[in-house]
Amino acid sequence: MNGKFVKFEDAKIHVLTHSLHYGNAIFEGMRCYNTEKGPAVFRLREHLCRFFNSAKSYCMKIPYSKEELRKATLDLMRVNNVKECYIRPILFYGPGHLGLDPEGLKVNVAIIPVPWGRYFGDKVEKGVRAKISSWCRINPLIVPTQAKCAGNYANSLLAKIEAIDAGYDEAILQNISGYIAEGPGENVFIVRQGKLITPPVHAGILVGITRDSIMRIARDMGIETIIRDIPREELYIADEAFFTGTAAEMTPIVEVDGRVIGDGRRGPITHKLQSKFFDVLRGKDEKYYDWLEFIR
Ligand code: PMP
Repeated sequence: MNGKFVKFEDAKIHVLTHSLHYGNAIFEGMRCYNTEKGPAVFRLREHLCRFFNSAKSYCMKIPYSKEELRKATLDLMRVNNVKECYIRPILFYGPGHLGLDPEGLKVNVAIIPVPWGRYFGDKVEKGVRAKISSWCRINPLIVPTQAKCAGNYANSLLAKIEAIDAGYDEAILQNISGYIAEGPGENVFIVRQGKLITPPVHAGILVGITRDSIMRIARDMGIETIIRDIPREELYIADEAFFTGTAAEMTPIVEVDGRVIGDGRRGPITHKLQSKFFDVLRGKDEKYYDWLEFIR
């Protein structure tokens, strides 16, 4: 926290923290996995790159270099002797005044290791039931949707609690043009006629690093990905569907709005990609070692 290792119980902030009041905190979410060659952070550089881009969109300056944050993340894993965890870097303005303009406020950076197993528990295999949200995904005319800014997540949170209250596992948000955007914290893919289809950047999605990893693994397996708008009805008639995200990893979607997707189980292409992806995360495929930042 701000360049020092701080004990968990001492990592506190003031109630007047500017970013708590206005949602102007920038964050990331990454994971560290145990591999045969020791623990490794998955695609650390790409996550830090997005952290800097998110900050830039919201005119926030990170008072460290990417290299300093990369080293700090690896050191953090080392001092905690962690094998597997979720890692949450966060950038926020401290307390001082309540004016909207953050001028003069201290910029803080913390990197927090969080124990976090499977986001959807055993549904990582069985698949989740999703509901099209009554909330639309935030739109690039309103806020930078590609930025991981805390305020953006008010939208995700509304969709998530609505879906849970209605008895579903997860929400899927449409954009204001009526096309599928993404889940509250995941990108969406469907499978039709052996090809993957996923919404484009202009759908207002957060450009997921897992989304990118899955597209690359799919390509290497000879599976084509088409990036195009997806209308809601196409989800219902897809052969297979799945979510991707750092927290949710890769999780099959087996039902949308009460319509069963495919035969209601994890589909063959989803299964094949998921097995390969989990092997890649745990360092079982040398072809993807570039994506692993080992903690030595
Ligand atoms: N969309 C949203 C809104 C998210 O919060 C996330 C999680 N960061 C994703 C998609 C997936 O992104 P990634 O694969 O980089 O975790």
